[in-house]
Amino acid sequence: KPMIALTFDDGPGKDTGRLLDALEKYNARATFFMLGNNAKRYPKEIQRMKELNCELGNHSTSHPQLTKLSEEGIKKEIQTTSGYIHDAAGADPTVMRPPYGAVNALVKQTVGLPMIFWSVDTLDWKTKNVESTVNSILNAKDGDIILLHDIHKASVDAAIEAIPKMIEKGFQIVTVSEMAEAKGKTLELGVKYFSF
Ligand code: ZN
Repeated sequence: KPMIALTFDDGPGKDTGRLLDALEKYNARATFFMLGNNAKRYPKEIQRMKELNCELGNHSTSHPQLTKLSEEGIKKEIQTTSGYIHDAAGADPTVMRPPYGAVNALVKQTVGLPMIFWSVDTLDWKTKNVESTVNSILNAKDGDIILLHDIHKASVDAAIEAIPKMIEKGFQIVTVSEMAEAKGKTLELGVKYFSF
């Protein structure tokens, strides 16, 4: 069956619980690239992500351009968030997404996790429009990684609407690592991935 990976940046937030309800209802999974300050605020949501076999991802602590930081600064941004996620879920993040997609050689070698970009940008953060975000998701193809933000209500509403429709179209909705494995790719530390 064709598959897609829904990925959610910048959360968790107040609407993340509703998204998790929908994922559970449809036996779907997502990948969450979390910010440290929000990870600290929403430990129950993170625990539930783990229970639902969603993938835990690191999106830094304070959303800086990591390319402007020293090695020590990059490590601190990553380790602080990994610590909050580990405290909440009892597991470390397995993937990371650099804020603004900003990466250089130092970031690649310092982060120590596979770096997951995207092949479908829904522009949900900009439009905050449910219909256009749903349509972006429905137009995705096999192997696409879809960029969304669970801190916006419209984005969560769009995902809740699109999940059953994509399943109806025959898609499996899986995590980034599940999709990589299904496509025969081994995720390597410090390497950028856009789709599978
Ligand atoms: Zn972000």
